[in-house]
Amino acid sequence: MKLGIVGLPNVGKSTLFNVLTSAGAQSANYAFCTIEPNVGMAAVPDERIAALAELYQPAKITPAVIEFVDIAGLVRGAAQGEGLGNKFLSNIREVDAVIHVVRCFEDDDIIHVEGSVDPARDIETITLELIFSDMELLERRIERGSKTVKVLGNTMRAELDLARGLYAHLESGKVARTYPCQPHEREQINTWALLTTKPVIYVCNFSETDYTAGNIETHANYQTVQAIAAAENCATLPVCAEIEAQVAELDADERALFLGELGITSGGLDLLIQRSYDLLGLISYLTAGKPEVRAWTITRGMKAPQAAGKIHTDFERGFIRAETVAFDDLMRCGNMAAAKEQGLVRSEGKEYVVQDGDVILFRFNV
Ligand code: GDP
Repeated sequence: MKLGIVGLPNVGKSTLFNVLTSAGAQSANYAFCTIEPNVGMAAVPDERIAALAELYQPAKITPAVIEFVDIAGLVRGAAQGEGLGNKFLSNIREVDAVIHVVRCFEDDDIIHVEGSVDPARDIETITLELIFSDMELLERRIERGSKTVKVLGNTMRAELDLARGLYAHLESGKVARTYPCQPHEREQINTWALLTTKPVIYVCNFSETDYTAGNIETHANYQTVQAIAAAENCATLPVCAEIEAQVAELDADERALFLGELGITSGGLDLLIQRSYDLLGLISYLTAGKPEVRAWTITRGMKAPQAAGKIHTDFERGFIRAETVAFDDLMRCGNMAAAKEQGLVRSEGKEYVVQDGDVILFRFNV
């Protein structure tokens, strides 16, 4: 799973990217590296992993991960080739969801490309570039469709009508995500690789003063962003990238002390990763043993053989059954043997829909 971080220059994207991809590594005690300067992995915070590690004392602990891409270079006019222009837009096409960082902090030393802090205008600037890019794609689709409709008939005609309807929607400045249509039409649209169909979290980057004042929910800038997000069915999250960057430098004890002094309980990053995970409809199941305790990412609703396939294709191909216990049940019993005794370890077959927090041992034969 891949998330793209977008936003105007100097809003805090790179600061956030750096802490996400290094703080995740620290908190999970897991060696991540930055894959490329702008691509990195973050561990999905999951207290269940530590609890299982306590139980199994494994040689290795592996959390679930999300990949983040810092997509720099988006400015007004990008769809027409300004800044990194289209290269940047093709980067977004590859991600599963978008983290849109919005500058809410005032700082005269840090230039705002548009001259002032104005979240609504900034969001519109970025969103319009994405919309323009989508319109260009649709234009080509409509053009091709118009040529082939006579030969291909009704299916093509329906698709063409859908594309035209969506085009008009985009033209009025709205994102593809909010286009009212039937479920089968939505499925069709989702195959067109548009930018504005992707789920978005608006991350509002506040100053330390505002962030720690304790009433961020009522801050005018936050309310502005929340209203925009609500109209687009998107999530929002307030952060202070500066604080997060400082927190990331500290070890666990210092961290608690520092956050305590600021009067906040935890940083916003864990929340951001968790929300991203939720937003993408992702859950984790767990495997636990002496060699390794590990979380595996699957989409909600996935059945046992496909979930097993995440570990190895052989597990899916030769799937026999899944020996499953809910994490909470396992913890309540204290260990696997006790859970078995109490009949809480179930033997599930091919049709079993894996649940978040299932601790699973797959039986397979190839
Ligand atoms: P990007 O261009 O969006 O990637 O922005 P950067 O992350 O490089 O940040 C641009 C500048 O703004 C850097 O000098 C950061 O230290 C600074 N910055 C980022 N977040 C904050 C913040 O919350 N408050 C203040 N005052 N400065 C910040």
